[in-house]
Amino acid sequence: MAISQSNAPAISDSDKENLDVLTSTQAIILEALTRLGYDSAMYELLKEPLRILTVRFPVRMDDGSVQVFTGYRAQHNDAVGPTKGGIRLHPDVTEDEIRALSIWMSIKCGIANLPYGGGKGGIICDPRTMSFSEIERLSRAYVRAISQIVGPTKDIPAPDVFSNSQNMAWMMDEYSHIREFDSPGFITGKPLVLGGSKGRESATARGVAICIEEAAKVKNISIQGARVIIQGFGNAGSYLAKFMYDSGAKVVGISDAYGALYDSNGLNIPELLEQRDSFGTVTKLFEDTITNKELLEQECDILVPAAIENQITKDNAANVKASVIVEAANGPTTTAATKILSDKGVLIVPDVLGNSGGVIVSYFEWVQNNQGYYWSEEEIDKKLIDLMRKSFHTVYEAAHKYGVDMRLAAYMVGVRRMAESARWRGWV
Ligand code: NAD
Repeated sequence: MAISQSNAPAISDSDKENLDVLTSTQAIILEALTRLGYDSAMYELLKEPLRILTVRFPVRMDDGSVQVFTGYRAQHNDAVGPTKGGIRLHPDVTEDEIRALSIWMSIKCGIANLPYGGGKGGIICDPRTMSFSEIERLSRAYVRAISQIVGPTKDIPAPDVFSNSQNMAWMMDEYSHIREFDSPGFITGKPLVLGGSKGRESATARGVAICIEEAAKVKNISIQGARVIIQGFGNAGSYLAKFMYDSGAKVVGISDAYGALYDSNGLNIPELLEQRDSFGTVTKLFEDTITNKELLEQECDILVPAAIENQITKDNAANVKASVIVEAANGPTTTAATKILSDKGVLIVPDVLGNSGGVIVSYFEWVQNNQGYYWSEEEIDKKLIDLMRKSFHTVYEAAHKYGVDMRLAAYMVGVRRMAESARWRGWV
């Protein structure tokens, strides 16, 4: 049976802007499956995670009181292999957001041909207001609550917004205690001494930089002297600024949550990196700032949103001057804005491709944990370059073959192996 449009979410057009991440993700999954000729049963299977566990768990706070936290773990689809994806610690975490993020992880793994489906976790909390020991108890309690459904061959977590290698270390230790054996492959993004991988910290930015190189080649832009704007100066944005500066590009704009800096002659990135704090803030030190909104509309060749979602919308897309946009952030460009930009001839490298360097090196970490043998930084970098280039060109060629934009092409590439695996397993 062909996919019926009646029970499916509408694909937003330029008149109707859809800022809800789950509905817009379902709409693009629907379009990708329809174009690939799959039926409605396949859409029903892939439009939601197979499993989502909601947990409530008590944590003893430093003042002796007990606070009960809510957390989630979503497993989108395990037809290909175990699920994989980060754990977000943020006050704004919602179940729908975790569902959508688990679907994006499936697509990312599909594009890079990793032997995983997508997963995602989250805890509603604000670690910025908690002590170190409260965060440790929270991390351990969350792992105890979800331990039945995760594991090195079931579902492998990783860091995400506001979680880091220390959280991963506590979580791995807790899981190893529960299982009564050392389980480094249970989680990735660990410190190096506990089985982490070289290159993991900068992997997302490195992947973005590789996509920029490939996109610049197809658009005939020389990286030497290319004007680059990066929105966000956190893990992804700051490493990327360094990579671009070192490769001879002119980083003309950067920003954080408080404002933006722009200089058409190029910013002094090493100096700004010295001055930024651990939350990726630097603009507070300057008086001559512009807003994030203004930054996105400044002259540049390459624009990298590396902060938060829904930054390029139908209201500002027409004013964007870049000819290449590489999405480091998840969901920074709406569907309506994608259409406006694509019609203008802007090459958009979508998030599911642009920021996949993180999950690729997480995969390398898991492989190294499983084999008990560790690779050098050079080996990791070479493998990452090979996989990112291959992913970029697979999506680029699919866009040409099917006459669609890079985002839809990325979903068509990313969803196919999952759908085929489900079919071979006899699920659909
Ligand atoms: P981060 O927390 O380290 O940094 C975020 C940066 O964005 C900071 O500079 C912050 O000041 C800025 N920011 C926050 N709110 C903002 C706002 N309203 N306007 C403008 N700037 C704002 O986060 P990160 O790890 O660099 O992640 C950035 C984006 O990249 C997120 O969308 C994340 O999901 C995505 N991403 C990151 C990774 C990774 O490995 N770090 C992997 C995949 C995707």
